[in-house]
Amino acid sequence: MTDTMTPEQRHRCMSHIRSRDTKPELKVRRWLWHHGYRYRIGVRSVPGKPDIVMRPYRTAIFVNGCFWHGHEGCKSFRLPQTNSDFWQTKIARNRSRDQRNYQLLRDNGWHVIVVWECQLAPAQLESTMRQVELQLNQNMLALYQHTPPTYHLQDNPLPMAAEEEPSFGTSTTDTP
Ligand SMILES: [Zn+2]
Repeated sequence: MTDTMTPEQRHRCMSHIRSRDTKPELKVRRWLWHHGYRYRIGVRSVPGKPDIVMRPYRTAIFVNGCFWHGHEGCKSFRLPQTNSDFWQTKIARNRSRDQRNYQLLRDNGWHVIVVWECQLAPAQLESTMRQVELQLNQNMLALYQHTPPTYHLQDNPLPMAAEEEPSFGTSTTDTP
């Protein structure tokens, strides 16, 4: 294949790709940071190694790539035509591992927020992050409100965070 690009054009092209390819996790972190939220990354003491840990909110945030974590019903998640069995098995395994981690966190009193890569597209980023923010505030509130009805609310996170859960349960291994 003939390469007709000048080095300069290629450079511009590559950097364009790179900037469009910003890691989803970074988008979330940047938004949180600019809105005054502080967090930790790479925290090993929290089960499941969440991407973002916000201890004051007792909240763990996972930013999931739609392919690797198998975002059900998502346009970005399409199994490759070749070796589809292999991919299916691999992604199913990732999914049940995710579910185990979320459950482990919840069992330890943590709130879990899952943000999908496709929800961070430029047109959706702001509304996605506003929902995350709302959830964070609810989680914070839940720490201070111990009346049973209010406490019960935290078991029903926003649809955005929880919508995938019922369909996630394709594997029976993560049911206790
Ligand atoms: Zn997706």
